Amino acid sequence: MKYYSLNHNAPKVSFQEAVIQGLASDKGLYFPETITPLNTSFFETIENLSNEEIAFEAINQFVGDEIPEHVLKEIIAETLCFDFPVVEVEKGIYSLELFHGPTMAFKDVGARFMSRCLAYFNKDKADSKNTVLVATSGDTGGAVASGFLGVAGVEVVILYPSGKVSDIQEKQLTTLGQNIKALEVDGVFDDCQDMVKKAFLDETLAHKNLTSANSINIARWLPQMFYFFFAYKALKKQNKPLVFSCPSGNFGNICAGIIAKKLGLPIEHFVASTNVNDTVPRFLESGKYDPKPSKATISNAMDVGNPSNFIRIQELYNNDLKAFEKDFSSYSYTDEETLEALKQIYNTNGYIAEPHGAVGYLGLKKELQKHDNAIGIFLETAHPIKFLDVVEPALGITLPIPTQIESVINEEKVSVKIKSYEELKAFLG
Ligand SMILES: *Cc1c(COP(=O)(O)O)cnc(C)c1O
Repeated sequence: MKYYSLNHNAPKVSFQEAVIQGLASDKGLYFPETITPLNTSFFETIENLSNEEIAFEAINQFVGDEIPEHVLKEIIAETLCFDFPVVEVEKGIYSLELFHGPTMAFKDVGARFMSRCLAYFNKDKADSKNTVLVATSGDTGGAVASGFLGVAGVEVVILYPSGKVSDIQEKQLTTLGQNIKALEVDGVFDDCQDMVKKAFLDETLAHKNLTSANSINIARWLPQMFYFFFAYKALKKQNKPLVFSCPSGNFGNICAGIIAKKLGLPIEHFVASTNVNDTVPRFLESGKYDPKPSKATISNAMDVGNPSNFIRIQELYNNDLKAFEKDFSSYSYTDEETLEALKQIYNTNGYIAEPHGAVGYLGLKKELQKHDNAIGIFLETAHPIKFLDVVEPALGITLPIPTQIESVINEEKVSVKIKSYEELKAFLG
């Protein structure tokens, strides 16, 4: 499989090159040259397949022969070492729980898959290291730290906005040690992301072999399509149209869902639910893409002013706004509305959501008014414990600490504070 740059001013590359480079030389995101729908027999018999078998079918064409089949199957097995339950929250509304992995956020899947692909590509290059440079608004950092911990030949540098991630998130990305380094940036997420983008284009850093583990990297982004297949498998026997609502920040998750639909997965409609960082909802209203600086909210993993994957979604629809709007809606919610939803979900249904899932729930409820016969699924992208400072006071409860979290919570934070791109450069050396 070849990948082209969405800026159309860089050579086409293989899967391996796209994973190692992260971003194309013209700053464009990589995009697969072809997307071939899977056989209808795959969907007809999906309930007989394991998650690993489903994932292999879904991702195989994007990797091609660059990773041998038995290695790819091993990578998938290590990636999917936990459950993806679909839980009924109220009649016709399901939570797709993506938080049962090691860092309790959905990003574990992409991070685990990408780290193992990179390890495979590095296996014969004992002396040339890759540096994974990643900006996080919260969850990416922990998932990448955990996913890449101890992976040979890869050093990981994580930039996060000081004071703008939760305590648990901070512990997850600052306490592991080994090949994982955390940089605490005096600024917001967009400042971190801008520094990372600048570093990729900085020729004086070429010797560091920088790559990204944000969802701009295809190996982080593409495996996120697996969840949509798993949900379909769980709900197929109801034989109803499916509406998915994704709490969206950089729009990688929802964009992977659209790829799943292109592969033939019967999804009736997508909802991108956002907090007040509403660049995409405003785009759908006005037809004008007008990114704004990000604002801090209680759903901080979605505090993104200029969603990096939106350009991939536009490519998937050939910039045809009509076709796009048929499949896709986007709604934005304030922190007050999010807190109300958290309480309502708990008081009415006894289900403990967290702020991102609650935003997803709100968007889903709104969209379902237009789809009589459909069932709705919102992605619960993190475990409530990761946002306990919001969830506990809102619901008046105390959450038990899961074992995955207990193991980092008492470790000592190790980070380096930086203010500017120059300081990042000096750190990378
Ligand atoms: C990253 C993240 C999101 C947003 O996902 P995108 O793919 O960037 O849209 C939503 N919720 C949580 C908990 C996250 O960590």
